[in-house]
Amino acid sequence: MEQRVVGVLGAGQLGRMFVEAAARLNVQVRLLDVGDTAPAKQINYLPGPDCKSQHIDGSFADPEKIRELASQVDVLTIEIEHVDATQLQKVLDDKLVDAVHPLPSTIALIQDKYLQKVHLAAKGLPLAEYLAVGPEDMSKATDASQARAAQIEAVSEIGKVFGFPLMLKSRTQAYDGKGNYVVKSADQAAEAVAALGDGKRGLYAEKWAPFEREVAVMVVRSATGEVRAYPAVETVHKNSICHTVFAPLRTADPGVEARARQIAEQAVATFGGAGVFGVEMFLMPNGELLINEIAPRPHNSGHYTIEAADTSQYENHVRAILGLPLGSTALKVPSAAMINILGLADLDKDPEAVAKTLVPGVVSLDVPGTTCHLYGKTGCRKGRKMGHITIVGQSDAEVRSRLRVVEEGLDRATQ
Ligand code: ATP
Ligand code: MG
Ligand code: MG
Repeated sequence: MEQRVVGVLGAGQLGRMFVEAAARLNVQVRLLDVGDTAPAKQINYLPGPDCKSQHIDGSFADPEKIRELASQVDVLTIEIEHVDATQLQKVLDDKLVDAVHPLPSTIALIQDKYLQKVHLAAKGLPLAEYLAVGPEDMSKATDASQARAAQIEAVSEIGKVFGFPLMLKSRTQAYDGKGNYVVKSADQAAEAVAALGDGKRGLYAEKWAPFEREVAVMVVRSATGEVRAYPAVETVHKNSICHTVFAPLRTADPGVEARARQIAEQAVATFGGAGVFGVEMFLMPNGELLINEIAPRPHNSGHYTIEAADTSQYENHVRAILGLPLGSTALKVPSAAMINILGLADLDKDPEAVAKTLVPGVVSLDVPGTTCHLYGKTGCRKGRKMGHITIVGQSDAEVRSRLRVVEEGLDRATQ
């Protein structure tokens, strides 16, 4: 059916679920990531050395490897935003591929969380207040100790404006809260700056958002700019890592769900290129919704769509980047939840605890309405996303009671 080959930068769990969706549509995928055993490569066999193109062993931030992948495929996309966006623009300009989705300029904008905020604020979208910390352009800050001193000074000054605690964030390379530092007082400014890059990385600060809940909306965008939101969901984070997701979002004020979708669609409409985007938001006690951040790719909060929506986020991503008709984003079950299976310990430190990591997956096999996804990751670290379980049911109560069975299994294993 489909003659065009898709190249993906990154071959982790998101790439793996993308490959599953692409395979059902006879779409061939080539992957760029380090090693032969990356989660997405494991399930995407390419026949023999005679095959005219292969997966590529290398970093998605390596310009040469990106060019090598581009020379083998027709359309490029990403499963992670921390890629070399400049090289993506070059391979597009050099016509090595027909398209890059989303646009390299969109990826570049979003991968710098500070520039992302500046962009969203300029479009009038609601955000927690934010300010640059120290030098705005780190490429011009040649002296790291000077930059560090300026950042420490700025954190103290911003504390006078925002109050404490405030959230200090790395502008780039952030994931699972790893670029965040909660600064509780001006005394902590130096340790916070040291923890987030010590004058070598650009930082910004956000006013603390005492949110009631966290909300996320997946949005699929066609190359012509049509946007379609999935239902808003509630996301629950533990230690800044997404832990559980409940779909759809239920609040006393049913208007919140529709408002969240509307804000997410408005935000995604401001970017260029096709694909799915994940929009993370804070629901404030007064009912206001503030955008936290946007991911230019399939997202953890959208895993539930594989079992619970008419068209999964992964399939809609395939369709969007190839210009195929977008699929319905409606729920096909009344209620769903997703729980991440997170590494319980580092493999080299506590192999016994690591052995218990997959217990919820094992427990879920006996629970009706559940689907277990294990990612095949070879190494385990504490908090690393090793798999997830989706639970569907005829009501929220049924989904919650099924979720309890899975969580109790994990609790028993870790006692
Ligand atoms: P992801 O893995 O989603 O890419 P990330 O590392 O980019 O995460 P953020 O999404 O910025 O980090 O923050 C992680 C979590 O920290 C949020 O989901 C939220 O729970 C908390 N958080 C972030 N910003 C604030 C804020 N301004 N006020 C209060 N809590 C916050
Ligand atoms: Mg992020
Ligand atoms: Mg986030």
